[in-house]
This record gives sequence, C-alpha cells and structure tokens, in this order.
Amino acid sequence: MTAYREFHRRSIADREGFWDEQARLVHWQKPFSKVLDYSRPPFAKWFVGGQTNLCYNAIDRHLEARGDQKALVWISTEVDAQKTFTYRELHAEVQRAAAMMQALGVKQGDRVVIYMPMIPEAAFAILACARIGAVHSVVFGGFAAASLAARIDDAKPKLMITADGGSRMGKVVLYKSLVDEALRVARHPPEKVLIFRRGLDANMASVAGRDVEWRDLAQKHAGAQVPCAWLESNESSYILYTSGTTGHPKGVQRDVGGHAVALAASMKHLYCGEAGETMFTTSDIGWVVGHSYIIYAPLIAGMTTIMYEGVPVRPDAGIWWKIVQDHKVAVMFSAPTAIRVLKKQDPAYMKKYDLSSLKHLFLAGEPLDEPTHVWITESLGRLVIDHYWQTETGWPLLSAHPGVEKTPLKMGSPSFPCYGYDVRLLHETTGKEVADGEKGVVAIKPPLPPGCMATVWGDDARFVETYFRSFPGQLVYTTFDWGIRDKDGYYFILGRTDDVINVAGHRLGTREIEEAVNMHPNIAECAVVGVADPVKGQMPLAFAVAKTHVEDQKKLEKEVMETVDKQLGAIARPRAVHFVTLLPKTRSGKTLRRSIQALAEGRDPGDLTTIEDPGALQQIKDALR
Ligand code: AMP
Repeated sequence: MTAYREFHRRSIADREGFWDEQARLVHWQKPFSKVLDYSRPPFAKWFVGGQTNLCYNAIDRHLEARGDQKALVWISTEVDAQKTFTYRELHAEVQRAAAMMQALGVKQGDRVVIYMPMIPEAAFAILACARIGAVHSVVFGGFAAASLAARIDDAKPKLMITADGGSRMGKVVLYKSLVDEALRVARHPPEKVLIFRRGLDANMASVAGRDVEWRDLAQKHAGAQVPCAWLESNESSYILYTSGTTGHPKGVQRDVGGHAVALAASMKHLYCGEAGETMFTTSDIGWVVGHSYIIYAPLIAGMTTIMYEGVPVRPDAGIWWKIVQDHKVAVMFSAPTAIRVLKKQDPAYMKKYDLSSLKHLFLAGEPLDEPTHVWITESLGRLVIDHYWQTETGWPLLSAHPGVEKTPLKMGSPSFPCYGYDVRLLHETTGKEVADGEKGVVAIKPPLPPGCMATVWGDDARFVETYFRSFPGQLVYTTFDWGIRDKDGYYFILGRTDDVINVAGHRLGTREIEEAVNMHPNIAECAVVGVADPVKGQMPLAFAVAKTHVEDQKKLEKEVMETVDKQLGAIARPRAVHFVTLLPKTRSGKTLRRSIQALAEGRDPGDLTTIEDPGALQQIKDALR
C-alpha cells in the first residue's frame, strides 16, 4: 500500500503543492494566484483568482482532438429511442440552449431550476447554465409539487426548465402539470418556464406570457454561438438540495474551479476513465452522482457518457449489460439497490453479453452488504469497488484508488480515505480520536478539499452550525455517519448518526416525512423511523396518532400515504402506517425514535429509563405484531 499511502500523505502534508499539480488537469483562462485561501475557517477558497468554465472544460476543450467522437449517448428503454451527440454536436446544442436562456433574460449568477426527466435536453440545459455562469439547481423528478415549491422559494430562480412528461416502467409521469402545481404555491415563482414537449402529455396546459416552448425558441437560435463566461474559481456553479434532520432541505452550493479540478482528478486516480473510453453511470441527473458522473466528470475527461432513461429490468434484466457490450463501456457506476434488484433475476442475463470492455464497477450511495458485493464480483468477474461519499462532498471521500495503486479490496469496506481528505474517527461525545476497531463518527479535519460544498446556499451560518459544530471546542466537519477502521486501515460505514434514512440510495429526513404525514387533517402527531429492507436498504415506517377514533385503519393508512406522495413524492412513502394512541417519549418530550426503530427491526429497544409512559412502547409492539 506504499504508493497509495504516500499519495494520500502528500495530499495532506503539502495541500497546496498537491492541488496545484491536480489543477493542471483542467483549462484555466487566467491562472490562479493562490491555491488555497483558508483565512476564514471553515470556508475554504480554492484556486483563488483563477478563471475557468465548467462547460469549456467539458466540451470546447475537446473539440480539436475529439470533435467527432461521441460525447453523449442517450438511451431510453422507456420511449424506445436512442440519440448520439458528438462533442461538436453537443457544443452546438449547448450553445443554442445558452442563447435560448439568455433570450429569456437569464444572466450570470441567476438561478435556473431544472425539473426534467433523463433526456438530452436536460444535459444541454445544465451545461448551458455552466457556460453562461447561471447557477443550476436540478430537482429530482420524483419530488412532489410541495417539495419542488420549497426548493424554488429557496433558490428564487429566474427561469425554470421542464418537459411535458417523463416515463417510468412504461407509465407516463407528468412533469409540467406538477410544475404548474408547484408554481401556484411558490412565493418566488420564476418569470418564465421553458418546456420541452416530448408528446407525452396531449392535454398539457400553457400559461400565456410565462410558458415558452423549447422547440419554438430553439428554431430562432439555430447555429447560435455563445462564448463561455470566464468565472472566478469560487463563483457558484450549482445548488443541489439535500435532506438533513430538519424539515427544510439544505442547498448544497458548489464552486466552479474546485469542482472541475476535483472531478478531473477523480477520473484519473479513482475511476481510471481515459479520454475516448465510455462511462455508464446509472443514476439520475437529480442526484449528486448524476451531476458529477453522468454530466461533468466523464466529459471533462474526454469520455463518452451514457445517459439512460429506464430501469435495470426492462425490457429484461440484461439491458445494462447489453449497453456495456454495445457501447464498450469501460467504467460503470451504480448503486447497491440496483444490484440487489438484479440479484433476484436469472443470472443467465449477465452471461449473455460480452463484458470484456469493462474495467471496474463502482458502487455508492448506501451501504453495500457483503453478500451483494460477493455476488456481483463473482458474476462480473471484475473489480467491484464500494466507495463512499455524500452530496456535500461531490466526489468520493473513501475509496480504493486503482489509478494510484491496485490495493486488495475487503468485502463490505469502501477502503481508504481519498487524497485531500484528512479523515478522523471521533468519539461521539468527547470528540477524541477512537482506536482502530472502535466505532466513531466519520469526520474531516478542515479545510475540505476542492469540489466539496462551499456553503449552504444563502446561509453561511447554517453551514457552520450544521456541519462543523458537533464536537465542542473543535471545528471539524461531520459526515453524520458512524464508521470503524480495522487494523489494516480499511474503513467500514455503519450507518447514520442522525435521523436521516437512506432509501435505495436516496437520502430522506425522517422529520421531513413526519411533517408530510402530519399534513393529513386527521393526524395529531407521528414518528417515522427507517427500518431495514432487503432490497432498498431502508424503508420509512410510520406510527401515527389520529385526532379522532379510527374506524377504518386501512383507509386512513392509504390516505396518509397519498398525503406523503403529494407532499414529498412516492420515494418517501412509508412501507406502512400503524396507528397508536400514544408515542413513546422521554419525560422531556423527545420521541424515542431509536427504540421504535429497534423494535421494528426485532432488536432490543435499549435504555428506557427516561420513558414517560411504558404503555406507549407496548402499543408499538402490538402494532408491529
Ligand atoms: P447522499 O448525499 O444522498 O448521496 O447520501 C449520502 C449518505 O449515503 C452518506 O452520508 C451515507 O450515509 C450513505 N452512503 C453513501 N455511500 C455509502 C457507502 N459506500 N457505504 C455506506 N453508506 C454510504
């Protein structure tokens, strides 16, 4: 492990020298004057004074050497279509989208909320924002109108971009009508809404003066040339909302230069993606993995990126492997839940295709259980690398580094700290470092490396309070994950320290779901906990107290689920809603979520000395029965 150890050591001991070298992987229109300005901890400014542009690095820079190479391949098994864009074609499409946005009044620094399915126009819109220095905020298509409205009100966009509809498992999902619903309740609606019509909603309504059709505007801007805005490295590139312990999602704000450098370096040292090769990331543009590894990183590296609209088992469970074969995918990135879904299918599907182009499969987003890791490794006959990161970090925090050294993998472990991260495992209360083999909170001694969140959008104080004040007397970033390190230096992630749950790789706050459940007029209060699920990792489970006597529990349960669908989206729908007359609470009124969760997972409920009324716990037990 000498090469890896030395690489990591240097990244911490000589931060500036290390990142100065990595910064050469991207184009700087104006060189930076300082690698790191850490004069206002914990705010780290990287590559100060340097000017660059993410879109330039992703597209323009490659035009000379690889203008005719495929840049983006869009495959939809939902609408049975495929489209390919070379770097030159992508350049033209993005410039046209940029011109369209400018025509709608978008200027540098303005926010653009993108609520779109997985279609090429979504990629054009994202890259066009980067090109002109507008700040994009992509909202995952599965979020409901109320969640979308909350994000709109925080970002205060000048423009929204959407489509008439998307498709999931062959069923149309209406996007534009949901946007209309969100804009009816939003306090800061945008002036204009740009709509790409796919022909999926024949009855799509249009608001005169506000709604603009993509195709109409695109016609007017065919052949447009829009130069890249040269942005100081620390300007904002995007905002991505993520859940925490409060009911209000936080806007993770990312910079420009640090983001470009971090992604370029990760393609070299972690993913081993070479220019001219193909990368297939099975996430969605609404999540951080989609931002980093469907859109920006593979293009910055000069690769071909695959954008896939569909599920892993339609038309059959061989579809991903067919894509790997047909497009000679070299690097693939997916999530454990998807692999657990595939594990239930006939293994013959994997043997049917030629997977010889594939170097590595990377998995992240949630814990990768050992049986699934073993199964996929054996089935593929390739290295399957578990790596760990968060929306906040934007790129991996713990991973094997095959681009630096091929260290052996341990099943169930995302290996070691990535270069640039000074990772510590801290005791929950004392904040002291724990010994090997002892459980601690995964923390990072700041400054955070390039590419990590710069702040919470519009709220520096919340950034510091949320992430850096968990341990008295020290300024240290907490991941809110438990971890353990073995004697060989391998890390294992043991789950969240807070009330956040992870459903199929999607982070949801239990408080957010509780607030949604409470929106039902007959619910007085509730507790939502995450319980283990064999496929999705975790699922929310709700215990609710109704205001009036419940005659028909099934009916009320259905209504509560529909309320959650409406408030947050179907991804947050509880597996079940149990009705009780009392929730287990401490004498000071705190809900004993951990005890409820333990009971739901068949474990010991732990220390109950502070419980107000033990009868409440009995009700939970009875309900679970
Ligand atoms: P998100 O920001 O939505 O990507 O969620 C990040 C959270 O997902 C982390 O804080 C972890 O709780 C979990 N997570 C991500 N990757 C892994 C992994 N490889 N192993 C275990 N948990 C993970």
